[in-house]
Amino acid sequence: MATKPPQPTPPSAAEPGPRNDIIHTPDPRLKKKSARVGHIDHSTEELARHMIAATLDWEQTREHEFGAALAAVQLGQNYRVVVIRNDFEDKAEKSFGVFINPEIVKKEGVPEEAMEGCLSVPDMYGMVQRYPKVKVRALNLLGQPIRVTATGFLARVLQHEIDHCEGILFTDRVPQMNKLFKLEKDGQFTKYVPPAKPKRTAPSKPRGGKARAGTTKNTKKPAVSEQ
Ligand SMILES: [Zn+2]
Repeated sequence: MATKPPQPTPPSAAEPGPRNDIIHTPDPRLKKKSARVGHIDHSTEELARHMIAATLDWEQTREHEFGAALAAVQLGQNYRVVVIRNDFEDKAEKSFGVFINPEIVKKEGVPEEAMEGCLSVPDMYGMVQRYPKVKVRALNLLGQPIRVTATGFLARVLQHEIDHCEGILFTDRVPQMNKLFKLEKDGQFTKYVPPAKPKRTAPSKPRGGKARAGTTKNTKKPAVSEQ
């Protein structure tokens, strides 16, 4: 999950790096449910390390954003592994917690709306409803059970990342187009305007009512789920 930091830092020069391993919409792998990790071993640790490196590398090139967390599916690895930054306020603090097979065991309070972004949905943000408090259980890299009671932004991040494990993107939770925003190069948000769909060639003969109804439905459908 990405967010806007209070104090942006300058970007580094664009160069190859693990950030290039992050997959983006509309990659169909992002819509797949991830598998539970059955056995935690060296490869799980390597995966977590790769995820952390990709998040930090991505952040280096994003002047106005902060890499708060990542799910393994965002590297095209369909395993239920999530890494979350230990400090959301300080870009200089680069340590992460690793959550394997994370599950929400309790949601509390009335869902609240706040701005969210995602490393796999470039330059888009949206107002997403999340529970203000969640209890999560997971395993750490040693295979030991961990339990977290999270509130505020951490609760939001956990819900965003666990959604990734289910193949759900934040845009799937923003039904209204007026709650989606584009992050401009100067760090300001503007209204999100979906890209124009290619025009269809008009059929030479009028088509039946069924086909016309289908066309109408497609043009009215918000682009969010297709981004
Ligand atoms: Zn995300």
